[in-house]
Amino acid sequence: MSSEIICGTNISKVYATATGPLVALDDVSFGVEEGEFISLVGPSGCGKSTLLSILGGLEDRSLGHLDIAGKPADSPRPDVGMMFQTSVLFPWRTIRENVRLPGQILKLDKARQKQRTEELLDMVGLNGFGDRYPGELSGGMRQRVGLARLLAHDPRILMMDEPFGALDEFTRETMNLELLRIWEATRKTVIFVTHNIGEAVFLSDRVFVMTPRPGRLEGIVEIDLPRPRTTGIMRDPRYSELVFEIRRMLGVDH
Ligand code: ADP
Repeated sequence: MSSEIICGTNISKVYATATGPLVALDDVSFGVEEGEFISLVGPSGCGKSTLLSILGGLEDRSLGHLDIAGKPADSPRPDVGMMFQTSVLFPWRTIRENVRLPGQILKLDKARQKQRTEELLDMVGLNGFGDRYPGELSGGMRQRVGLARLLAHDPRILMMDEPFGALDEFTRETMNLELLRIWEATRKTVIFVTHNIGEAVFLSDRVFVMTPRPGRLEGIVEIDLPRPRTTGIMRDPRYSELVFEIRRMLGVDH
């Protein structure tokens, strides 16, 4: 039996727009193994967010089939957590109360959630900030809260749409290291959208390379760099080779 936790077959998406139908995804097929870290890279508008939204059950597909954990996936599901470029936090709730929100919505055991919230605040480096309000935090810290909240109900699959894309380069790098550390500890399945090729290579087991519209899967690049990874890996000639292989697939090497 396959250990694929996500299996997409011939997925297409056509949006109806004022100027006519727009093909955002064209016949995309792929499988993801449980515990894999996958990045989706491609130029702006190639359908990365659309594919992630379909995988997260937020958007319908026009054609094709999608199985998650062995069952047809057609709506949002509690075993999938989603995180976006900007974490929308409730400004009137403390950081702790924001992290607790998914558990409250899903009516999970209160005592367990209370303990988990403290563990997560610790995990994302926000120990001591639980009583603060979002307005008191930097952008990087707010994304840390978003990361803790994403993990609050312990989803099996994490879908992340450019979660650190709005942060400065230094903070982004720190957050990538934090994410890898958390991933090493939890081994969740991660689908990570980015247009930053270096970031995709640094983080992933495999990189799905998408072409400009209509979004197709141009190819899949296996990232055979050792783990655990530190930023030192960027000096490895293999890191540069992989970045250039993806650049070539995307047609950005001239
Ligand atoms: P990416 O995440 O790679 O930048 P998107 O998935 O956001 O790409 O968009 C893919 C294409 O679909 C783009 O041309 C975009 O304009 C279009 N698109 C995305 N969402 C909608 C929508 N709700 N209605 C119409 N067109 C859309």
